[in-house]
This record gives sequence, C-alpha cells and structure tokens, in this order.
Amino acid sequence: MTGSIPFCDPVACVAAGCDAVVCTGRAVPSNTSLFERSARAIPGGVNSSIRAFRAVGGIPYIVARAEGARVWDVEGHEMIDLVQSYGAVILGHGHPRVTAAIRSAAGDGTSYGAPTPREMKLAEAISARVPSCERVRFMNSGTEATSTAVRLARGATGRKRIVTFHGNFHGATDALLAAGGSGVATLGLPGTAGVPEEAVANTLVVPYNEVPALDADVAAVFVEPVAANMGLIPPAPGFLEGLRAECDRVGALLVFDEVITGFRLGSGGAQSKYDVRPDLTCFGKVIGGGLPVGAVGGRRDVMENLTPLGSVFHAGTLAGNPLATAAGLAALDELSDDLYMELSARARRLSALLRDACTAVGIAASFPVVGTLVGMHFGDALGQRAPANFDDARTTDEASFARIFHALLAGGVALAPGAYEALFVGAAHDDAVLDELAGRVTAALGGLVAR
Ligand SMILES: *Cc1c(COP(=O)(O)O)cnc(C)c1O
Repeated sequence: MTGSIPFCDPVACVAAGCDAVVCTGRAVPSNTSLFERSARAIPGGVNSSIRAFRAVGGIPYIVARAEGARVWDVEGHEMIDLVQSYGAVILGHGHPRVTAAIRSAAGDGTSYGAPTPREMKLAEAISARVPSCERVRFMNSGTEATSTAVRLARGATGRKRIVTFHGNFHGATDALLAAGGSGVATLGLPGTAGVPEEAVANTLVVPYNEVPALDADVAAVFVEPVAANMGLIPPAPGFLEGLRAECDRVGALLVFDEVITGFRLGSGGAQSKYDVRPDLTCFGKVIGGGLPVGAVGGRRDVMENLTPLGSVFHAGTLAGNPLATAAGLAALDELSDDLYMELSARARRLSALLRDACTAVGIAASFPVVGTLVGMHFGDALGQRAPANFDDARTTDEASFARIFHALLAGGVALAPGAYEALFVGAAHDDAVLDELAGRVTAALGGLVAR
C-alpha cells in the first residue's frame, strides 16, 4: 500500500505494510519500505552481507538510533542490543566520553593527509597494553589489517605459504578467503567467487585446535586465538603454545587475529590471557571506539619491513584518522581491569540466563563463555561435549537458532542474525538491563514453545 492517507493510525498503518504513508500529516517510515528502497540503491540493501538476514529469514530492522545497551528501529521498536556493532562498541552506544572526543576532534578537521599526535598516542596506548606490539601501524578496518599482515609476513620472510584454520574468519581478504575441507588440510580452494585459485594457491587450511606440522616454506600462521566467528571456541590447552613452538621451529611468523578479542578479553587481549606472544597482531573493532579502524602491531624488526623503512608497501588516505583515533583513545581510556572483571561477570550471567530460559522450555542449547565473550550452540548433536573445531560448530541447529532469533527480536532482544556469531555485553549492560533482558528472554522463549 502506497500513497497518502491523512489522519490514519500510524501503528495500524505500519502493521498493514504501508509504504511511507503520510499519516496524521507526517511520513511514517517502515523497516520494509526502507529496506526495499535500500535494495534499489545498494546490492541486497546492505553493506555487510550478514545484515540482510538471509541466515534467519525475514527482513532486517532498520536502525534509527541507539543509546547504551539499546537500539531503536525506524518504527520506534526498542531492543536490548547484544550486537553492539559485532563487538566494536564495548562501552555501549553513544558513550558520552567517546561522543565528546569525536565532537571535539571533528571541530579541528576530519582528515589531513599528515601525521597527528593522536595516532601516535593510540599506537603508544596499544604498545603499552600489548607488549608484543613494539610498533603499530593503522588502517581503516580489520580486513585491511589482515591483508596488510599477509603482505608483511610474506615480504618479511620471503616466503609465500600462509596457514589458516577452518572456521576462523579474517575479514574480506582474498588470500584468507580459502575454503576449508572437512577435518582435513586443504590447499588453494577459493572460499568465494571472485577469488582466483592463484590467490589462494599458497593458503593451506587446517583444522582448528590441532597444531599442524609446518614446512619451511610457511611465511605465517594466521589464527583467531579464541575462535569467535564459529560460535565461540576456546583454544585447546597447548594449542597456542604448540603453534608458537612450531612457527619457531621452521622460522614462520605467528599472527594472532585479535580483531574481536583485542581489548575485549582484557587490555592485553587473548595473548595476555593465554600467555603466548605472537609476532604480529591484527586489531580492529574495539580500538576504534565504534569508528572505522584497523591496526597491525608486532615485533619491531618485522614491522620495520613496512614502507617507508622497508620494502613492503602500505598506505591509506584516511589511515590513522583523527576521528577514529580520538574515539579509540577515549574508549581505551575507559577500559580498566575492573571493568573487564565486571564484563566477565555479565558474560557469565548472560550465558546462564539464556541457558535457563532454553532449558525451561526444552530447547537444547549451550552458551559457552570465554572471559567477556559469549557464544551459542544449538541442538544436542555433540552431547555434553563443547565444540572444538568447525566440524563441531557446524552441528549447530540453524533452524532452531532462526526460530529463537525471531522470537527474541519480537520480544525486544537483538542478536546478530547468524548462528555462528558471538553475543556482546559491554559497559552499558548493567544489572538493571540484564534483569530486564532476563524477563524478555523468558517471555519470548515461553511464547515460542506455546505457539
Ligand atoms: C570482524 C573481523 C575481521 C574483519 O574486520 P572488519 O573491520 O569487519 O574488516 C577480521 N577478523 C576477525 C577475527 C573479525 O572478527
């Protein structure tokens, strides 16, 4: 229904699927109408594929604004948000100090094409908290961080081969978009159209949580030290230490992709929690305080292979951006050890309340916790055993997740629309929010089974 219906009831109108109806004299947007309009301008209506809801069905809610732990769609529905920009927003939406830092920075200009004190301070702040990062170089996304790290590792070692783990995610970087085989090592299978075999011919994909025997042609091993893109899978005891030893044995670099875990598990990231020192670390998400940023940090001798000191090219018009570094510095400033302790307690509470609500209505599900991170696994295919690799992760019951996802969404709880995503609690998810969340989850899942 499209057109102008003056003085109608906006709620009834939206429920009937009105398209930008002029209702009581003003235009009422709906998620559907805006998403359809977006899809005429943007492929699939989204700028990151998962946002299109293909994994869960239906159409996405279109966000109007967010504050703290909450997000509102254009129709005025309020949701407790466990997406938090896939973990980029750890202090909650619109944190006053981060917002003030961005406002103040914006008044001095938004990008110069010349060095600034703020990028220096953010690099120092990262080095001070993550000792393996003796030098830090900024870019604009986690994807740029991993693609720069691939080039740097190859340039620094003079080797081509990259080893990755099946089910780990490193962004939209060609060399790391290789398909993994089931439980076996596979070489050079493109993980998506548009990546030629040649681009992944030197990428070996091996099962997570098993230390591969490396050859001396390996430039680097890329790993999510806690896998947070296939549910949530902690490293098995000895796995990260084993990778360190095996890399040292053959002279390969160990690269931790801490785009999610960096400044999320604690100020030292996963490398501090598990006490394993990588040669290079990729960052993104939290270090930008919700603005676009990425970084590679690591050993001085390796990092100094980057231009202008070395011969491995890196550049970026907006790299080290004044607004992003202002937001990142403000965010890191707020992230104390006390806050991380608090976030760990909240993660445990979130896991417990979800588990209890599922148990109460007979839904088989587990919600693993690693520090401040919470994951999901649906169904009972693994019995009591927790997922340890991608083959395990894939036994999750995606249909069950989709039903739970939509029940929660209708009940005012927003999860990322994918069964393999992590759940994010932050500084804004205080006890009062978690109490309210518990009530909404119980009500939503109760309704699900009753239907
Ligand atoms: C999100 C993510 C990336 C990609 O970061 P973008 O900023 O989305 O490009 C890379 N690695 C991991 C582990 C991630 O979770």
